[in-house]
Amino acid sequence: MVTTKAAVLRDKAAEFALEDISVTDELRPDEVRVRVVATGICHTDLLVRDQILPPALPAVLGHEGSGIVEAVGIAVDTCAVGDRVVLAPRSCGRCANCRSGHPMHCAEWLHLNLRGRRADGSTAYRDAAGAELNGHFFGQSSLSGHVVTQQRSVITISDEAPLDLAGPLGCGMIAGAGAVFNVLKPPPGAGVAVIGAGAVGLAGVMAAVVLGCAPIIAVDLHRNRLDLAAELGATHLIDAGAGDVVAAVKRICPDGVSFCLDAVGLPQTVHTAMSALAMGGAAALAGSSGTGQDAAINLAQMMGRTLHGVIEGDSVPELLIPQLVDLHLAGRFPFDKLVRTYPIEEIGVAVRDAETGRTVKPVLLHTWR
Ligand SMILES: [Zn+2]
Ligand SMILES: [Zn+2]
Repeated sequence: MVTTKAAVLRDKAAEFALEDISVTDELRPDEVRVRVVATGICHTDLLVRDQILPPALPAVLGHEGSGIVEAVGIAVDTCAVGDRVVLAPRSCGRCANCRSGHPMHCAEWLHLNLRGRRADGSTAYRDAAGAELNGHFFGQSSLSGHVVTQQRSVITISDEAPLDLAGPLGCGMIAGAGAVFNVLKPPPGAGVAVIGAGAVGLAGVMAAVVLGCAPIIAVDLHRNRLDLAAELGATHLIDAGAGDVVAAVKRICPDGVSFCLDAVGLPQTVHTAMSALAMGGAAALAGSSGTGQDAAINLAQMMGRTLHGVIEGDSVPELLIPQLVDLHLAGRFPFDKLVRTYPIEEIGVAVRDAETGRTVKPVLLHTWR
């Protein structure tokens, strides 16, 4: 056993609390143990806290981890001890979607990432009393100081990358940037609207800037997020609380916008995204409220238009994460502007700052060691 500390969630809607826990030191052939340096907080962690999504509690959450490989199973050949890594969601590697280059749309995705267990139902995580904890969340549970993951979830990054900030590349950043690069694929000069200027939406803004899109329209309720969108390259800002968003988009693009990224994922934002599209346009639903609601879509507005539902940007993490690191190091994907760091002891403050919109992307540093 490797003893460590983790922010454990024991009850619905409770606070995350630091506890001593242990993770197994008996790695399976394809497993990797990583010492976590930092982890981002994502909206999905909070949906689990409120038990809108599984896994059941008690559990160790966290799925935007970065760290250093400290042990590998005997069959691991994609990373080595000492590698600096970002952790990515799990995929099976065997289903048709995995084999055709769409591992984030893996047929086993929900089972592997949200069940809180390995595929066979076991867990590598135990509390101080020896009781099992759900973990393996998105293949990691990086609110633990050490995680047991699987080599498909371990992405080695360059030595120049800022390891303590890099965790969000494993979820929020690939979710937004991948939806633009891999799914919408706007050509240079095409108009893009982004609904929701949180981490996913702002990653979409940065990706649209990389591709040379214009105009780039950011829509949000929070002024500080709209200001950040402008700093990242959005050309037009729409305050979603100030009136009809579709009318505001059409004042900028009279025929509607060619591409729309819905980074919120509520019925009304899906409706807005489809209503704002020009004929021939495409929208990507890249956020999820996790509540399984139905959305009303006007069938006349659907004609000649496309709506894609996208998980983690339909990305291949082994390809997109290093690409985003390279863009970042070239000054073209400044995701560090979204991040505020907190020692993990201040996870309660970080969660509140995420919920109020004060911080777009809180990143917790495992500073206790
Ligand atoms: Zn996430
Ligand atoms: Zn698969």
